[in-house]
Amino acid sequence: MPSDIQGKIAAILPPSAVNGCDEPAGVGGNNNEFSVAAMYEHICGFDRRNAQLMWKKTWQLNVTERVRCFVWLLTYDRLLTNSRKSRMGLGHAMCNYCGNVEETTIHVLRDCNLVNKFWLQVVPLEDRNTFFMENLQQWIYSNLSKGAKGRIDSAWCDYWATACHCFWTWRNKEIHDAEFTRPIYAMQHVYRRVNDYYQANKTNRLMRIKNDMLVYISWKPPCGSYVKLNTDGACKDQNRGGCGGIIRGSQGEWLGGFARGLGNCSAIIAELWGVAEGLSYARRLGFTAVELNVDSVVVVQAIKTGRFSSSVGLPLVKHIRRMLDLDWEIKIEHAYRESNKCADAMANIGCHLDRETIFYDSCPIRIKELLLADELGITTPRIISM
Ligand SMILES: [Zn+2]
Repeated sequence: MPSDIQGKIAAILPPSAVNGCDEPAGVGGNNNEFSVAAMYEHICGFDRRNAQLMWKKTWQLNVTERVRCFVWLLTYDRLLTNSRKSRMGLGHAMCNYCGNVEETTIHVLRDCNLVNKFWLQVVPLEDRNTFFMENLQQWIYSNLSKGAKGRIDSAWCDYWATACHCFWTWRNKEIHDAEFTRPIYAMQHVYRRVNDYYQANKTNRLMRIKNDMLVYISWKPPCGSYVKLNTDGACKDQNRGGCGGIIRGSQGEWLGGFARGLGNCSAIIAELWGVAEGLSYARRLGFTAVELNVDSVVVVQAIKTGRFSSSVGLPLVKHIRRMLDLDWEIKIEHAYRESNKCADAMANIGCHLDRETIFYDSCPIRIKELLLADELGITTPRIISM
C-alpha cells in the first residue's frame, strides 16, 4: 500500500462498537448529510480548498471593493470580452484594436498592444518570461501571490489588480464613450489609485486603533486540586500531522507529557487528536480534575457542541465527548497560542515521529526553556480587538 494512503488511514480513529451506529456522511466530508451541491462539486472535480485559497487572496487585496469584485470575476473568467460574446452569438470575437487577434481575457489584460507596453515598463526583465507565458489561471494566481505578506505600503498584487481593472474600464469606455481617451501616463495613474487607497486605509486604521487593546498573555497554573492539560496539534510539510500535550500542577511542575505522530491529516484533525490523546493520558495517570486548554476556537466549539463539519473529525469529537462524560471534572477553555507554547513544541516533536506515541515522565531538554518561562509567568504581548 502506498505510504501516503497508510498515513491517511493512520490518522482516522478506528471504528469501535461504543461509537454508536453508522451515520451517513457527505461526499468529501464537508457535510454530515448528503447534499446535491457537495456531490456535484465532487463529480466536477471542483477543488474547494483551491477555490478558497483564491478567494482568500482576492479578499486580502489592499484595493477598493470594486477592484476586488473585478478580480473575483476574473478568477472565474467571466469578463464579457468579444470572444465570450461571439460564443453567445453577439458579434465578432476579435480585438477592436489589434484586429486579427481573438479578444480573450488574457488578451485584453496582458497581450493586447494597448496594454503590452505598460507591463513591459513595470515587470522586471527576469520575471517577463513567466509573466507573459502563463495561462490566465496561472497568471492570476502568481500575480495575486506576489507581495501580499509582510509588506509595508506597496505590494505588487495590489498594483497588478488595479492595473487590470483600469485596462478593462478603459477598454469599455473606449467602446461606449466616443470622447474618452486613455490616460497618457498609465503607470502614474495606476500608482496614484493604489496609493490613494493606501492613504485612505491608513487614516481609517488610525481611527480604529483605539478599539484594539494590548494584553500580556502568559500560561496560568490550574486552580485548587485541578491539573492543567495543554494540548496542541500541528501539520508540517506534506500533511505530516502530529499532536502533543503536557500536564502540569499548580506550581507549574511537570506531571507528564506526550507526543504522537499521526500520519497524514489536517491541522484541525491533529488538534482533535491532541485533545483525545491528552485526555486518555490524564485519565491513565489517575487525575480526576483537569483544566483542558486548547488554542483552537474551532476545536473548543466542536467539543462543546458536538458538531463538526468533517467526517474524519466527527468520530474524534464524539470520542472526546464520551471521555468528558466519565466520572471526572473537566474544564475546557480556549487559550491563546502564546500561552500554549509548550504543547505546541510537543506537537512539533509529534510531527517528526513515525505514527508512534512517546510519553515523557520528565521534561524533554528541548522544551526546558519554554517550561521555565511558563513557570516564571513570563508574558507575551498580543493585540486583541475589543
Ligand atoms: Zn488587442
